[in-house]
Amino acid sequence: MPRDPYEVLGVQRDADDSQIKKAFRKMARELHPDNNDAPDAEDKFKEAATAYEILSDSERRATYDRYGHDGLRGGGFQSQAEGFGSFSDLFSAFFGDSFGGGGGGGPAVGEDLLVRLDLDLEQTVKGGEASLNFDAIVGCDTCEGTGAKQGSEVKQCDRCGGAGELRAVTRTPFGQVMRAVACDRCGGRGSLIQDPCDTCRGEGRIVKRRDIKIDIPLGIAHGQRIRLRGEGHAGEAGAPSGDLYVQIAVRQHPVFTRDGDNLIAVASVAAPFAALGTTIEIDGFDGPIEVDVPAGAQPGEEVRLAGLGMPRGRGDRGELRVVLDIVIPRRLDERQRELLQAFADSLEDRNTKAPGGLGERLRRLAGKRR
Ligand SMILES: [Zn+2]
Ligand SMILES: [Zn+2]
Repeated sequence: MPRDPYEVLGVQRDADDSQIKKAFRKMARELHPDNNDAPDAEDKFKEAATAYEILSDSERRATYDRYGHDGLRGGGFQSQAEGFGSFSDLFSAFFGDSFGGGGGGGPAVGEDLLVRLDLDLEQTVKGGEASLNFDAIVGCDTCEGTGAKQGSEVKQCDRCGGAGELRAVTRTPFGQVMRAVACDRCGGRGSLIQDPCDTCRGEGRIVKRRDIKIDIPLGIAHGQRIRLRGEGHAGEAGAPSGDLYVQIAVRQHPVFTRDGDNLIAVASVAAPFAALGTTIEIDGFDGPIEVDVPAGAQPGEEVRLAGLGMPRGRGDRGELRVVLDIVIPRRLDERQRELLQAFADSLEDRNTKAPGGLGERLRRLAGKRR
């Protein structure tokens, strides 16, 4: 059951037309997509628009006051707030393009642009600069964006009188609304070119290879996007440029894998060294990293090194987790066999039944899942 329209707009039962209109405009301003990105803003606006449709029409309002929503439905009332393609279409249907100062006639603003930036993991750890090369629409330098050949005559558009926009009356659910549309003759420029610029053929814009540098944000992750305002395609006739979105793609690293704020590396240690304890080296971004392997280290055991993971703000970094891969020696010669046999013969339960083995790990994992 739809809500009471008076309640929806927050007005008294005896509110007059201007109070109702004011309440609706206030709600609409709050719910406009430029001001409100709440997921239910659209539904709330539709509800408010429907309430306004009912209360702004004296006949409908009287029907509702007497018979409620059932009476309206019985009389064939159907809200016009439904059936619009998008939220902004719906807004312009109610308010024209003038609502909230956005839109309007005049030359079109530039389109947004999306480019991909491939980075090495090291660049996301250390930051630095990256180059972006891409084709974009830019203003024509030859004619400075006017589209006219230098020194040639530019006439004022006779259709729009130089304003670049035309006022059109559109019918909306609330009666007629004036809306501004770009002049179809001059394309919003307000002027007509007699002799077009050779470089841009009168468009005022050309497609050009652009090369810009950006600072790589520390710790940026694969799949994230950076937005650079005004670095997209140039607008028509001096209108603002669109935005540039940079889609980050991070290449796989042979040693390190990212896991949130941490880095993970797998390091091999021969079983005898794992038994005795040792120090190994892995190749880090700033030279070798020493990893202390404790005596008795087991396969899959992790050595955690604080401050060697991903940057996570204020100079702080996550952990580097080195997962130990214990390698069992193979292809033994005779002497090695003898030594190992003697060693094997010396083994006692306390050497091999130590906690932390794979079996115990599995049991612990299974326990967690139960
Ligand atoms: Zn030009
Ligand atoms: Zn015009």
